[in-house]
Amino acid sequence: MERLVLDNNWKIIINDKENIKGDHALYSNILACLSVGETMKSLLGPKSRDKLIINQYGEIIITNDGITVLKSMNLIHPVSRMMVELSKSMDDQNGDGTTSVVVLCSLLLKKSLSLLKGDSLSNFNISRGIHPIRIMRGFIKASKISIDTIKKISKRFDINSDQGKEILLQVSTTTLNSKLVSHIYPNLPKLAVDSILLAYKFSKSNLTTQSVNIVGVSSGSMEDSKILPYFLLPHSLITPFYPKQSNSKEFNIVLLDLLFLNNNNNNSKDITESFQNNEIIIKNDKDIESLIQEQESKVKSLVITLKKFGISIVGVGGNDGTLAPLVRSYFNKAKISVFKPFDRDEFTNLSDRLGISILSDISNLSLNTTSSFIGKFKNIKQEIIQSRELYHFEPLDTISTPPTIILYGSTDIELQETKRALHDSLCVLRNLIRDPVVVPGGGACEIQCCNVILSTIANENIDGLEMIVLTAFTEALEEIAQILYQNSGIENHLELILKLKDYHRVNESNASFGIDLRTETMGDMYDLGVLETCSNKLSQISMVTEIVSSILKIDEIINH
Ligand code: ADP
Repeated sequence: MERLVLDNNWKIIINDKENIKGDHALYSNILACLSVGETMKSLLGPKSRDKLIINQYGEIIITNDGITVLKSMNLIHPVSRMMVELSKSMDDQNGDGTTSVVVLCSLLLKKSLSLLKGDSLSNFNISRGIHPIRIMRGFIKASKISIDTIKKISKRFDINSDQGKEILLQVSTTTLNSKLVSHIYPNLPKLAVDSILLAYKFSKSNLTTQSVNIVGVSSGSMEDSKILPYFLLPHSLITPFYPKQSNSKEFNIVLLDLLFLNNNNNNSKDITESFQNNEIIIKNDKDIESLIQEQESKVKSLVITLKKFGISIVGVGGNDGTLAPLVRSYFNKAKISVFKPFDRDEFTNLSDRLGISILSDISNLSLNTTSSFIGKFKNIKQEIIQSRELYHFEPLDTISTPPTIILYGSTDIELQETKRALHDSLCVLRNLIRDPVVVPGGGACEIQCCNVILSTIANENIDGLEMIVLTAFTEALEEIAQILYQNSGIENHLELILKLKDYHRVNESNASFGIDLRTETMGDMYDLGVLETCSNKLSQISMVTEIVSSILKIDEIINH
């Protein structure tokens, strides 16, 4: 199966099997999603299970992270791949909710399937199934009510208030609760909050997850992990390190695009590619001596210019390759240190984090000495941690660098999982700092939405097919809470749900009641500190409704 297109007429086009039409197409799509949902169910919540994945290289990953599990499933059915995309979008936007969306999506599709087939509709004197477009409309209505309900029970707070940091910590804890690492290293939520607040102090509205730098060291105890208020770059040099001269005020760095070395006005293109590869291929009859001289003089003038601008260290990258020995020797002679070439992504990341533009034309340097092409630091020092080369960027008072979390882990597997968890938490915290609104976790939102939808049905006298579809939506939401409690080993979870629904019904002020699964206490989630970001919860409802609607609208799978 090579091509997957969801075109404007809501047909899925694939290219190696027969066309599938009508109900058959719809059922096949839904069934594919249900099996994904089944796998993901056990991952939901703070006491969920983990999956052990053996990847194509035979490496072992133990994880609870929804998106990591989905990616490893190598799904080929086009509609189940839409669920992977859904989870990925959640991860990109919110850093969290990746399991919840897939589980809710599959629950809604399960409900749709029985509505389509007309299962148990005979009680309502309905002999045939419900049309998919009606189901879709009902789900959209229910999702709108849910979104309004969630907004109503949300709370805005001031991150600069005394309570602000406490709320950030509670949200970070809720995000990390389900991660394996939270049991090993309970201090991780605090590490995430302290580092993002430090980054926020400098980056303000430019805060991104890149504003915190994470350096993993696979040795030692996780308890030794710490935050450094400066940028630490784990990378080696290909020249010796030339420390700052005692008479210089600053230590300057430029990030040089490797393509620049290939970028000559004259006809030296013949040798430039080969220059990167440490070999020379003569493609015209130009004298080899003059070609080399030309290249040498170019490198020489580059080094002289860099020296003139007080550059002590250079990062090169943007093009996978090595630096020719000739270039290296000129940098060496000038006592300019050079980092091992960075690959394209690393290089762009470095440029973003240090706020230095990548230099692809040396004349830009001569135009403006205060340009963004020169990174000025009080000092850049070499450090060696567990035989790893690291470079410590000590900021000038006037500028900032992203703080660094040094994360220790006894094994690479543990370290990778901790990094993933930390990244999710930083993403959630970044969103929360941008829009400081929280909602209660622990099933409270789901139960409250159920009750409000059910009372809307009663108050507005909604009956017939619409009532059946809205009720199905509430059942799916309720099942989310059930799975959460069931996964935590709570035996009487069904009774608890009934009790919670009653609490919510009898008193509006109980709208944020749920269960804190750490202690199995029923209560107000705001008081017990089980909080989530409002934006994440709203995205879950709207994105899931959108994708379920898309799936319900598909009436044909076309194979080219
Ligand atoms: P996702 O990948 O969708 O975020 P998780 O496995 O992280 O899924 O589970 C998130 C769910 O776990 C949320 O509904 C959240 O409210 C709930 N949760 C997290 N911590 C607790 C807790 N201490 N008590 C009850 N529910 C919790």
